[in-house]
Amino acid sequence: MKPYDYLIVGAGLFGAVFAHEARSKGKRCLVIDRRDHIAGNVYTQQVEGINVHRYGAHIFHTNSKEVWNYVGRFAEFNRYTNSPVANYHGQIYNLPFNMNTFNKMWGVVTPAEAKAEIQRQRDAAGITQPKNLEEQAISLVGTDIYEKLIKGYTAKQWGRPCDQLPAFIIRRLPVRFTYDDNYFNALYQGIPNGGYTAMVERMLEGVEVRLGVDYLQEKAQLDALADRVIYTGAIDAYFGYQLGALEYRSVRFETEVLDTDNYQGNAVVNYTDAETPYTRIIEHKHFEFGTQPKTVISREYSAEWKVGDEPYYPVNDDKNSALYARYQALAGEEKKVRFGGRLGEYRYYDMDKVIESALAAAREELA
Ligand SMILES: Cc1cc2nc3c(=O)[nH]c(=O)nc-3n(C[C@H](O)[C@H](O)[C@H](O)COP(=O)(O)OP(=O)(O)OC[C@H]3O[C@@H](n4cnc5c(N)ncnc54)[C@H](O)[C@@H]3O)c2cc1C
Repeated sequence: MKPYDYLIVGAGLFGAVFAHEARSKGKRCLVIDRRDHIAGNVYTQQVEGINVHRYGAHIFHTNSKEVWNYVGRFAEFNRYTNSPVANYHGQIYNLPFNMNTFNKMWGVVTPAEAKAEIQRQRDAAGITQPKNLEEQAISLVGTDIYEKLIKGYTAKQWGRPCDQLPAFIIRRLPVRFTYDDNYFNALYQGIPNGGYTAMVERMLEGVEVRLGVDYLQEKAQLDALADRVIYTGAIDAYFGYQLGALEYRSVRFETEVLDTDNYQGNAVVNYTDAETPYTRIIEHKHFEFGTQPKTVISREYSAEWKVGDEPYYPVNDDKNSALYARYQALAGEEKKVRFGGRLGEYRYYDMDKVIESALAAAREELA
């Protein structure tokens, strides 16, 4: 008999939820992660008493009552509501585009006035068949919003000017004709008090965890320990990149402690001009209404990705989707292994969706 029923590769949300479910069904689990911490990309690290989102700002939001109740078992959530602002050459606009944005931009007061102004700018641009992202954006929200709030930001995000990006990237844009600055439409939203790491720690209570262990470097020995493997690492890495590497977009963070209690007055400020090299500044304490004497900020730079860099956003274009389908076919042959999570399935998952997916995997495995 092997010492474990399940070897779970990755202590991120997928791995932690799966491990929790398996343990509660009496399964013997070993969780490993090659990083020196648990929680994967939702990891929060305490700096100056502030929970810093090391791999990018994470705001929990969901429409699923089941998921909301589930996470509520491991953490109490605060009332944080994501309301980012855009800074365009020192002028502040509310996001997502809503009546506050239109009022600041044009002085309009009623939804009818805002709609009329957008329509006037659309008509003036005369675009009927948008050929690229620039034309698509102008045809959706008019020239002013495009020029001040979309053009520079999107170009920085993708590393290319908007007239060289495909229109489909912004098929729709969130536009609201109410004075509502809540970025998400979700029914439930918040940040776990005490940070995500503490929440994942509670999920992993009673489960053996080994950190600093790279599965792919000790695969044979680790496989011998368990009957089944739940693998949440990158699918192409699992197969030694034998069909080529799947592509990602990456993000680089520059994090700084500042000797002030409040740097920018909001958790998220987007810099929408082209000249500022970063896309956003995150001030972490505002996620938890922090009153610490200092503050921690992270400047986010969008970055090209190469093998070895931290993979963030999968590039789900035709080329990469086709390559992933070929890896998926190989994965189907690995009878002992289940691939899950954002890297194992090469898809962008919000946290609630990755939890749903791990719960579904656990139901199947443990039936
Ligand atoms: C910049 C950014 C911001 C985001 N913001 C939000 C947000 O605001 N709201 C939201 O709902 N979602 C957000 N997300 C999505 C969220 O991060 C994911 O849903 C979640 O992290 C996915 O969890 P996971 O377990 O699939 O993957 P991960 O958290 O990546 O966990 C996988 C783990 O596997 C480990 N691993 C990989 N290979 C190996 C190996 N060979 N051996 C051992 N261990 C290995 C990794 O070290 C990692 O810890 C954001 C994502 C990004 C990129």
